[in-house]
Amino acid sequence: MNNTSLRYQFLRPVLLAAAVASLSGRIFAVETSASSPLIGSTPMAILDGDSSTTWVSQSNEPQEITIDLGNRWPIRSVEIEWGKKYPLEYEVQLTTDGKTWRTVAHSVDFKPNNSKVWFKFKFTVHKIDPAIEATGLRIRSLKTTNGVEMVDVRINGLYPFCYEHVPSGAVCLNKSAAPEARVNDLLSRMTIREKVGMVAGFNFFFFSGIERFGFEPVLLNDATSGLNLRPEVERERSSISQSTSFPLAAALAATWQPELAYEMGKAIGEECRAAGTGVLLGPGVNIHRTSTCGRNFEYMSEDPWLASRMAVQHIKGVQGQKIIATIKHFIANNNEFVRTRCNAVIDERTLHEIYLPAFAAAVQEANVRAIMSSYNWLNGAKCGEDKVLLTDILRGELGYTGMVMSDWGDGTENMTKILGSGQNMVMPGLKGLGQHIRALLEKNPAGTEKQLDAMIAPTLRVLFEMGTWDRKASDPAFKNTFAGHKITARTIGESAITLLKNDQILPLVKGQSILITGDSSAVTNAGSGGGSGHVKGYDHINFYDGLKAVFGSAVKYDANPSDEAVKQADRILYFFKMSDSEGTDRPFDLSEKINQQIQALAAKNPNVIVIASSGTAFGTPWLDSVKGLVHGYFLGQEYGEAMANVLSGTVSPSGKLPFTMEKSFEDSPAHGYNLVDGSLWWPSKFPPNVKTHTIDVPYSEGVFVGYRWYEAKQKPFNFPFGFGLSYTTFEISNMKVSATTISKEKPVTVSVTVKNTGKTAGAEVVQLYVHDDAASVERPYRELKGFQKVFLQPGESKTITMPLDWKSLAFWDVKTHAWLAEPGAFTLLVGNSSRNEQCRAQIDYK
Ligand code: BGC
Repeated sequence: MNNTSLRYQFLRPVLLAAAVASLSGRIFAVETSASSPLIGSTPMAILDGDSSTTWVSQSNEPQEITIDLGNRWPIRSVEIEWGKKYPLEYEVQLTTDGKTWRTVAHSVDFKPNNSKVWFKFKFTVHKIDPAIEATGLRIRSLKTTNGVEMVDVRINGLYPFCYEHVPSGAVCLNKSAAPEARVNDLLSRMTIREKVGMVAGFNFFFFSGIERFGFEPVLLNDATSGLNLRPEVERERSSISQSTSFPLAAALAATWQPELAYEMGKAIGEECRAAGTGVLLGPGVNIHRTSTCGRNFEYMSEDPWLASRMAVQHIKGVQGQKIIATIKHFIANNNEFVRTRCNAVIDERTLHEIYLPAFAAAVQEANVRAIMSSYNWLNGAKCGEDKVLLTDILRGELGYTGMVMSDWGDGTENMTKILGSGQNMVMPGLKGLGQHIRALLEKNPAGTEKQLDAMIAPTLRVLFEMGTWDRKASDPAFKNTFAGHKITARTIGESAITLLKNDQILPLVKGQSILITGDSSAVTNAGSGGGSGHVKGYDHINFYDGLKAVFGSAVKYDANPSDEAVKQADRILYFFKMSDSEGTDRPFDLSEKINQQIQALAAKNPNVIVIASSGTAFGTPWLDSVKGLVHGYFLGQEYGEAMANVLSGTVSPSGKLPFTMEKSFEDSPAHGYNLVDGSLWWPSKFPPNVKTHTIDVPYSEGVFVGYRWYEAKQKPFNFPFGFGLSYTTFEISNMKVSATTISKEKPVTVSVTVKNTGKTAGAEVVQLYVHDDAASVERPYRELKGFQKVFLQPGESKTITMPLDWKSLAFWDVKTHAWLAEPGAFTLLVGNSSRNEQCRAQIDYK
């Protein structure tokens, strides 16, 4: 039998309905003894890795399902995914001759283990240790009540991809061959079934492996701020039981320290290496368009430059450890409201100036190897299936060469649009794509195989480039790095904490009595937001413990303190936490209860300091009544120690807001994006009828997002983008530009001197904004194009230099579909927030 006919074998049993054949000579046959009619699908459905197809028998007579393994293979595990019906007693058997069967597992009084249920699926895993060689596998249901439904059967954690043995000299196995050569060789050897296995994930968080080549399944873990371990799906794969919970993306951005983004990425990469994870499902870089987005905590900023600088370093850190980073969600996933049916309506210029830059930087500067398409729609097309987005813009315009995966479940809807769109991997499983491909193969085998090759080649290339298949998935040596990661997490937390108001109330002083109050979960469980970005962490130090470690018995916690206790405390620390989570947006305003509690405390004691855990902005109607306000974001497992170090003055705060804090949500450009029948809609569930159509969210503010909006429209705000106080003071002066003109060929540098004019050590973030003096289009008054954090001892000065090139002066020109900087004058503004300018200089663009 030649290679080609061998490779098409997998089709045959599918087309031969309920295939019944002898074991010998058949490859991948599945036969069944069931005499009752089969509904749903053929027995092959249990080998297709497609959870939308199942094999069902209605009869309750004993049945056997036999799988021909084609070759003799060492069998290490058999995993069965049951549907709604399952036998009460069954056994798993192996054979080498098709006549004698050896029982390797026997389940009596079987009930699927519901504690391990992931969505609707029920898995049973039978481990065979030591492995037993076999040519055939049989699952015999001995006792049923009303039949059996099987979704999939996996052997050795894979679908049984077991045709010929691969020659050891094959180029695809040669670790030192060029990735492209390995891909081409591999494609020429893979069966269609193996190729179909690579167009979609399996087991929710895996890319398929290809057993015949020794390529193991690749484990994927969320997200930007550490490994969200999921023992229920990882099962035997992950070799660590705990991972570090780092500060979340918005907190990371609040440090304005790209070098910390690198450190965090590196640390997470190391944890991936220890865990056996090949792909990190982060970082998230969607722009904070609205303060109400439930996932802002997973995203960096409202500003594309800040988001880009942080994301590039995060990715470099992760990928430096040979872990594939996944930038997400491509694109315009800026709210959770009807997230899979929300159609973002965005014009070309806005898309390029605001929503694309962080992705472009990740592609062009960090060579990111994976991108996750988003749940939403863009201008009428579903992002996970849109050729314009995934091919023309992403690969054409941005020059991307890595792989794209869809967001989970409803990230794709129409399987007929996937092939050729630029989508490479439908996650988390085939959901009917396999059936569609089979239908195409019947009509046009050669053409369809070519399309399949084009779809999977980027994934294969990336896996070869990163050596994912060339190393043992997990490397215990990396466990030694974990202790250092706690320090990284704490340092980032300390650098992120943003002091927004301080009427000579902070730092706290030893000897003062400190009353901690607020909801207990805001005090003892405030490390992370919710959803896939949640990282459990370990050895948490909560706010109470952190403060107690510094101030000892002077610290008391009471959720409902008496009037007396409130009056007597020297300082009152009120903690609250917002319910930021994937899947739902949340109101800008705090609950009435929180607002009232703060007001009531402030009425009894003038020394109230409010400490917020939130991924984004929130309302502060009590701002004038309190003396201190600290934005704590979500700081990961070290949140308590990081906060205590800042509140006590061991570390001077140096975080700066990566978003604007508006006074009132009505002033936001996005206000009303979630109006349903005239009211704002906050629940995670869809409003009635949305499943059948999309809801337009017009981005009519255009490029005027965040501070660009509040400045242009002269709207009030509480705290501007880039703002944050310190325990010391700084002066920024002596601005110099290296030349009076700038051109495409000749970038310039901007330098300023920063002096610590106060009495304690601290750090200032110098921010460089560009203003176009005269433009042919409406432009924001200023746009961030450079920044640097400077650490200074009291009295110390440093001169810092920031580069600036022509692109920083440009806008996206819709006539030429390209970046355009118009010749003429530009003003460069330097300050320590988007509204506090301290120096300016002019420059000419030629
Ligand atoms: C989220 C992604 C995440 C994926 C896998 C989806 O619901 O939108 O950000 O990576 O689940 O957990």
